[in-house]
Amino acid sequence: MTVTVHQFPCLSDNYGFLVRDDATGLAACVDTPDAGAILRELKALGWKLDLILNTHWHPDHAGGNAEIKAATGATVVGPQEVERLGQAPDRIVSGGDAVMLGRTQFEVIESGGHTLGHVAYFDAADKVAFVGDTLFALGCGRLFEGAPEQMWASLQRLAALPDETTVYCAHEYTASNARFALSVDDDPALKARTDEIFAARERGEPTVPTSIGLEKATNPFLRAPRLAPKMGLVGVPDHQAFAAVRQAKDAFKG
Ligand code: ZN
Ligand code: FE
Repeated sequence: MTVTVHQFPCLSDNYGFLVRDDATGLAACVDTPDAGAILRELKALGWKLDLILNTHWHPDHAGGNAEIKAATGATVVGPQEVERLGQAPDRIVSGGDAVMLGRTQFEVIESGGHTLGHVAYFDAADKVAFVGDTLFALGCGRLFEGAPEQMWASLQRLAALPDETTVYCAHEYTASNARFALSVDDDPALKARTDEIFAARERGEPTVPTSIGLEKATNPFLRAPRLAPKMGLVGVPDHQAFAAVRQAKDAFKG
């Protein structure tokens, strides 16, 4: 099976994603940052919306559910925590579940930490992952609800996907992530990537999607165990190295 992914910017720095199962023509939107924008894109593409796939409960991810469901009749699929916005998903999913969009199967991957119930959606046949606010290009989500152990385990589940996996992150935070990454890591591969990132942003181009292989090689959060000694942390567990990098990013001004 193959899918077609349509990505577009919305709100101040979110991306909207529409994904179509090519065999049946059925489409899903991943998160609902901006109902008006998503409905306009759907209409322009002429796609029929079957599913809304939520990654987590934040309003810039699930806030447009009701309006899009009312306009399209799509089924809302997401973690239980989405009910915090007032309406539970039609189908509640958690790690290990499978969701079918036409003939395309998405595996639900538990990815809590940014919020406790955050999930990602992985289409193994096409090697495409929608990771919400868990993994960003050169970054990761802030720990609003979870502990570093939980977020580290979530990032490791994503890092275990095939290197060629195309990773759709929910925000364009890459330039600011790149400035932080350069402050903690002097790896040549990172330097080369950040040069490309700054040039792309100057041209107004997106830096999403990324790939698992590229993030494993250059993302300072995934590389935390290797960066920890430079930060004065020796012999600490990996999740503690990760926590130190996350804290440094939270405090970073640049
Ligand atoms: Zn969020
Ligand atoms: Fe977000």
